[in-house]
Amino acid sequence: MTPAERVAELRAQIAHHNDRYYTHDAPEISDIDYDLLVREVAQLEAEHPELLDVESPTQVVGAGSLNVAFSPVVHRVPMTSLDNAMDDAELSAWGDRIVRGLNGEPARFVCELKIDGLAMSLRYEGGRFVQAATRGDGSIGEDVTANVATIEVIPDSLAGTTVPSVLEVRGEVYLPLDAFERLKAAKEAENVQRVAAGRKPEPVPVNPRNAGAGSLRQKDPSVTAGRGLAFWSYQLGEVQGGPEFTSHHETLEYLRALGFPVNPEIRMVDDLQGVVEFCRHWQEHRHTLPYEIDGAVVKVDSLAQREVLGFTSRAPRWAIAFKFPPEERTTILRDIQVSVGRTGRTTPFAVLEPVFVGGSTVGMATLHNQDQVAAKDVRPGDTVVVRKAGDVIPEVVGPVLSLRPEGLPPWEFPTICPCPLRTELVRPEGEADTRCVEPACPFQRDQRIIYFASRGAMDIEGLGESTVFQLSDAGLVADAGDIYSLTRDQLLTLDKWGDTKADNLLAAIEGSKNRPLPKVLTALGCKGLGPSASDALARAFGTLDSIMNASEADLATTDGVGPTIAASIVRWYSQPANRELIEKLRAAGVEFGRVEVSRLQQNLAGKAVVVTGSLEGYTRESAEAAIKDRGGKSPGSVSAKTFAVVVGSDPGASKVTKATDLGIPMLDLAGFEHLLATGELPPTD
Ligand code: NAD
Repeated sequence: MTPAERVAELRAQIAHHNDRYYTHDAPEISDIDYDLLVREVAQLEAEHPELLDVESPTQVVGAGSLNVAFSPVVHRVPMTSLDNAMDDAELSAWGDRIVRGLNGEPARFVCELKIDGLAMSLRYEGGRFVQAATRGDGSIGEDVTANVATIEVIPDSLAGTTVPSVLEVRGEVYLPLDAFERLKAAKEAENVQRVAAGRKPEPVPVNPRNAGAGSLRQKDPSVTAGRGLAFWSYQLGEVQGGPEFTSHHETLEYLRALGFPVNPEIRMVDDLQGVVEFCRHWQEHRHTLPYEIDGAVVKVDSLAQREVLGFTSRAPRWAIAFKFPPEERTTILRDIQVSVGRTGRTTPFAVLEPVFVGGSTVGMATLHNQDQVAAKDVRPGDTVVVRKAGDVIPEVVGPVLSLRPEGLPPWEFPTICPCPLRTELVRPEGEADTRCVEPACPFQRDQRIIYFASRGAMDIEGLGESTVFQLSDAGLVADAGDIYSLTRDQLLTLDKWGDTKADNLLAAIEGSKNRPLPKVLTALGCKGLGPSASDALARAFGTLDSIMNASEADLATTDGVGPTIAASIVRWYSQPANRELIEKLRAAGVEFGRVEVSRLQQNLAGKAVVVTGSLEGYTRESAEAAIKDRGGKSPGSVSAKTFAVVVGSDPGASKVTKATDLGIPMLDLAGFEHLLATGELPPTD
């Protein structure tokens, strides 16, 4: 293919994707893949200047066709796009261009969050809101006044003596995360019903940006009103009258004074180093915000310097968008398979064409359960959107319906366990999970051993998933009790096992024999019996035998246990294979009565402290254990009863939002350590 042919092909693809993105709010590829297409055109145009064209996507503001449901609006001050930098080197190259453009004169920068929403121009005449328009191609946008008028945070009228006769306020309409989750859940629930009734599912919104843009461009403004859209203002457009400004930060202060929402995270910095720090900070902490950002926008503060720097045909030279690495990609769903857990629960998971997203290559992602697959209606062969945000596990967000091959059949949940015994699976009435109920299922058996040896249970280093599979395949272990009779000679017969590896594993197994009782109890893997109920039972009963021989009623009345876990323990112990396991462990010398009652002062008694994000010097388990050792509780979610929320790096956005909404105190590492030492909140200054 000649460069000219490739450029023509890329431009056609970009035009198609612009239409999908801007007109239909339903892109077929991820933003990074789109950006790479545009970059390839730019590269070819740089190498072959004869291919440059004023209509090229590198020269114009990207737009799909205007939606005929809305009247066109001419922007008297154009709405531009932004050039972007994808890494520190590109950011500093921009910094160098600024220095050159200003002949070495120092510049200050205003750093803003790049809100992932839809650019909007709001027009006020005589202080009254008269029109809202989308960006369109930068010169002509769509009139969405009636829809924007429903957004609560946008003022209808402006008060004060300094209100200009004409004022255009530019900013971003966006859908906050909680509103997005609500919309998505409603759509998924609707789809389950549709599919059950034999109707076609509707697309589920894949991200707040597209959901927000779609919500805004509704024909019926009352639909927009119910969606919970919000707005951040960040720029002035046409202005007639009113005060004069010399800097960008003054215009932001003015907007704030007039009653427009201006993002509180905006910072002014003195040099490029400050810019880099701002970008780094938000790349790391983006998930603490209750809305999505896809980067940072850096703007020269002085309006006089902006004049000097000017514009290209599509973007200002005085600003740059620093784009964060992608957290969403599209890829092919090759297959959906089912894994079997230690309790027989089956979990469907996606086998993907591997794709680099959220900082790692993702080839598999959980699909949770049968209803989730139905709600998302993902089918092997689909192009799907994959998301991996922060340290959250990768997720298949949904299919790209416009790319679904003709006649692709829906995926059916298997009726038979994938293990060699091929037993029939059952889905108990009213439960979300489908289960294998055959206790001898080898897949369940392996998972039980893996769980037994895991960190929160017997913590046997070196006995992870792959080793357990190897031991099980070789016929050396059939249950967790068999671990304790493994010999050095047996291990040395395994592929890639040498003396050191074998000795280390045997030492780790030996060391696990004197774990405290709650760990042993957890390791047994009774359904529902996790670390905190194990703790409670160990404290109340003292030994494994007294727990196993207690009546269901006695177990159920133990604080923190309850009837479901009590019934599960009794059922577990009634099975001969489980009694056999206990006897094997006893014979191997595993301790059944080591209760470590905390000697620490119980200064958190009755207090619930939620931990989110990672804290230096603690694992999630050790932070929670520190709370429990002092008599407190550490539940997984924030409620009105929560005493405090400890917020580490990369915390869960929903926990932080909830804590903010409920006014629950939030503590950093130092605050947490103060709380552990005193049982009190640190003093606020
Ligand atoms: P852009 O999104 O990279 O940057 C410009 C936009 O940033 C502005 O118009 C404004 O809406 C927004 N913005 C957010 N916060 C801002 C702030 N504080 N100050 C100023 N502006 C702010 O560029 P674009 O031209 O709007 O869109 C191009 C991008 O859209 C692409 O890079 C790609 O990410 C995405 N896109 C994706 C597809 C697809 O198929 N996936 C198709 C077209 C465009």
